[in-house]
Amino acid sequence: MDNAKYEAMLKVAITEARIGLAEGGIPIGAAMFDRDGKLLASGRNRRVQQDDPSIHGETDAFRRAGRQRSYRDITMVTTLAPCWYCTGLIRQFGIRTVVVGESRTFTGGIDSLRELGVTVVDLDSEICRDLLAQFIAAKPEVWNEDIGVDA
Ligand SMILES: [Zn+2]
Repeated sequence: MDNAKYEAMLKVAITEARIGLAEGGIPIGAAMFDRDGKLLASGRNRRVQQDDPSIHGETDAFRRAGRQRSYRDITMVTTLAPCWYCTGLIRQFGIRTVVVGESRTFTGGIDSLRELGVTVVDLDSEICRDLLAQFIAAKPEVWNEDIGVDA
């Protein structure tokens, strides 16, 4: 698949990230697409909104997509490289294609995913980086909480 297709998918995740930011949450969004590129579900980090540390962009999209018979042809798109928790989800369910908006702010588990044979496409999106950079500058303590770093 060409990057233009992935960029279009990333836009869905970016929209979720912006909704999250408007809600006062951490601007990280995700979306899942089937083998034909059809949107299954999208979601966003709602740690702050729901007071639930388990709701990351990826897990939110995953839950909203409901039960899937197979994940091997599903593409997980996320505005930020997946953390270890979400890397575990991708590994557990055998998702083989992951598109990340960026990995400079946070690398997460993308090297491990690549070692497992998962195709990781890093679009290095300035929009994604800027969204998060603004949030981190404004609320560093919430960011540290999200990535599991003790202040
Ligand atoms: Zn995560």
